[in-house]
Amino acid sequence: MSLKIAVAALAASAQLAMSYQKPAAPAEGLRLIKTSEEDPGQWVTKEEKYKMVKSKKGCTHYIDITNIQDDEVLEVLSTKTRTTVQAVDYPSNLSHVEEANKLIGGSNTDGPQKWLEHLTSYHNRHCESKTGTEAAAWLFKQVQEIASANSDITVEQFEHSDFDQPSIIARLPGKSESLVVIGAHMDSTSGAPSSKAPGADDNGSGTVVVLESLRVLAEAGFAPENTIEFHWYGGEEIGLIGSADIWAEYKSQGKNVISYVNQDMAGYQPSGTPTVITDYTDPALNKYVTLLVTEFTGKAPNSADCGYGCSDHASADANGFPAAFVFEDLPDKTSPDIHTPNDVSAILSTPLSYDTIMWDAVERHIQFAVGYLVEASYLS
Ligand SMILES: [Zn+2]
Repeated sequence: MSLKIAVAALAASAQLAMSYQKPAAPAEGLRLIKTSEEDPGQWVTKEEKYKMVKSKKGCTHYIDITNIQDDEVLEVLSTKTRTTVQAVDYPSNLSHVEEANKLIGGSNTDGPQKWLEHLTSYHNRHCESKTGTEAAAWLFKQVQEIASANSDITVEQFEHSDFDQPSIIARLPGKSESLVVIGAHMDSTSGAPSSKAPGADDNGSGTVVVLESLRVLAEAGFAPENTIEFHWYGGEEIGLIGSADIWAEYKSQGKNVISYVNQDMAGYQPSGTPTVITDYTDPALNKYVTLLVTEFTGKAPNSADCGYGCSDHASADANGFPAAFVFEDLPDKTSPDIHTPNDVSAILSTPLSYDTIMWDAVERHIQFAVGYLVEASYLS
């Protein structure tokens, strides 16, 4: 990582002609959303937003930009051709495979199955519902408990002004303050804050992948060179609000982020192979992530686009940080149940368990996640 290059890239982007202006709000209490670079922004009611719940096909993805004040970020969100912030030289060979494989050997899906069963037991984890706040409080306690295996790890909640569901950040300090980050959104939806949304695949699965990777590193007493962070975001399903707040703060604090990898949907993979998402991500990081997926899962990933505002990597990307997204499968092969009451998992429930999750897919995502965190923790 060269800080000089990162600063130069930021300076270059500051010279972009700022042309995007938010349209004036026609009334109070509305939200401003964007569905593409060309979309100047539409002021809508919360109820109109709930109806736009994204699905794998058809529905429009949007980013809620109501709170975004940073002109540079607004410009990036409105510009199709943009210069990639190339801040990091990622290696073309992996150097700590043996160490990573040892740690991967300590991972399993026992915890993930138990955690996912609990996460899906809430009526929903909508960021504007009471159960969404309760689920976030449970997750915070769970992260603290898991992190307690290594007293160096700190865990904090990140509050948001728009809703009561705090995001969570666990930090394993390294010798350097450069950050290697993995994240997943914790919230779920099937529309309104009152609708049933167990959210097993979307995104209980990514949530437990990040939890298991924290458990493995914490229990092994892994001491990284770079600092590792584990993020769980609130408010993804209503326009990436939780991750937008966090990545805006990281930008304003001038944090040095080597890589962000997003985990949104990790439990449905009919092809047996994950997909590396190619849009709103960093091409050099994608190459490196492809190498990591291939090495640690034994499968060469597919690649595909997922569209404007499709998940939280877009927030890191818009704030100028190198972002990647390892998705469960090609976009047309993913779970048919997301954003419905049928996105369920209760594998431990007796006498009859029910489950839509492909646990071999979750396992692959865990293998990748642990491998990524170990390898990237040595990047310099
Ligand atoms: Zn999701």
